[in-house]
Amino acid sequence: MENKKYICPVCGYDRLNEAPYGEDYKKNFNPSGEICSNCNCEFGFDLEPGGATKDGFTIEEYRNKHLCSPRRKKYLKNLENEEMQNLIEWLDDKVIRHKS
Ligand SMILES: [Zn+2]
Repeated sequence: MENKKYICPVCGYDRLNEAPYGEDYKKNFNPSGEICSNCNCEFGFDLEPGGATKDGFTIEEYRNKHLCSPRRKKYLKNLENEEMQNLIEWLDDKVIRHKS
């Protein structure tokens, strides 16, 4: 466990210390509160209604807003696997999109 690192579902940064929304997020949604040092997303705060923004962002909106430099985009390839795509879809569907 000590050395395990996790991937940010927003930018693909692969050095997070905790699972952003819990290892078993579908059953036990548990945002880590960690702030991604690449895209500055605070899990459970920036990407949630009632958090930093009134309406909440989708992951894609957050990504477009915060990943403007090529340097920050270099991790996006880490999102190209089924596990990450599932998490992104789940978050967009169940958690983030609360716009009316
Ligand atoms: Zn990130």
